[in-house]
Amino acid sequence: MMLSSSNELLILGCGHSESDTLFNNNALVTNAKGNLLIDCGYTIKPALQAQGLKLQDIDAVFITHVHADHVFGLERLANEGRYKYHKKARLILHHELYDELWHQCLKGVLAKNGEGENQLADYFELVLLQNDEFELFGNLYQLHRVSHTPGKVCFGVMINQSIFYSGDTVAIPQLLMQLKPELIFHDVTLTDYNPVHASVHSLLSLYPAELCKKTYLMSYEDHWPDYQQMVEQHFAGFARQGQRVLLSKEHQTDTAAG
Ligand SMILES: [Zn+2]
Repeated sequence: MMLSSSNELLILGCGHSESDTLFNNNALVTNAKGNLLIDCGYTIKPALQAQGLKLQDIDAVFITHVHADHVFGLERLANEGRYKYHKKARLILHHELYDELWHQCLKGVLAKNGEGENQLADYFELVLLQNDEFELFGNLYQLHRVSHTPGKVCFGVMINQSIFYSGDTVAIPQLLMQLKPELIFHDVTLTDYNPVHASVHSLLSLYPAELCKKTYLMSYEDHWPDYQQMVEQHFAGFARQGQRVLLSKEHQTDTAAG
């Protein structure tokens, strides 16, 4: 893929963590100024490769929460950035996620290397957000707390006050009715026994029809074709790997897989 001159959100993966056929639910905001990953799961290398990209192309990463399908790819980005590409990407996260990400997750694989003891900031240009927004490469990101695994800090993000990317969450009707996004990429599960993701039925019962109509569902399981007709009837549809959305006021979607 050539670096796009337009300003786009590109869906790199839209699969549930148990999926055998879909990449982790990760995305990329790409424009001529740089590439920002939204989450970096363990499928990040093949997911980038499917779009003609490499880890080397990543300039920054924003983390929504600390689960394997959202952060385990950071080990590759850290080590390959340091030893293979000699490039230090920016790593942006809310300060409340730091202990969980470093001390409880990555320290075991990154703290010791050939040069001795290391911190997260030795691998990345670390940005710990003290408030709930940041600007990067010309885009505005506003963080909003969502409801995922009980007790875990998880953020969704509003991009340019227009597109809401939920990260992992159950239904959040109050927040979305308050934010009124123009377009939504929203977590879903196609089962009714998962208490930490949003079931299709919960979304249909808790969200007004017009909200569903501007919502693409992501983070879904492999049997999604069984739900395709119903989802396309009530929602904008399933998000697809390779889907691009222009980040401009009059955003347009191109659902062709790339
Ligand atoms: Zn999660």
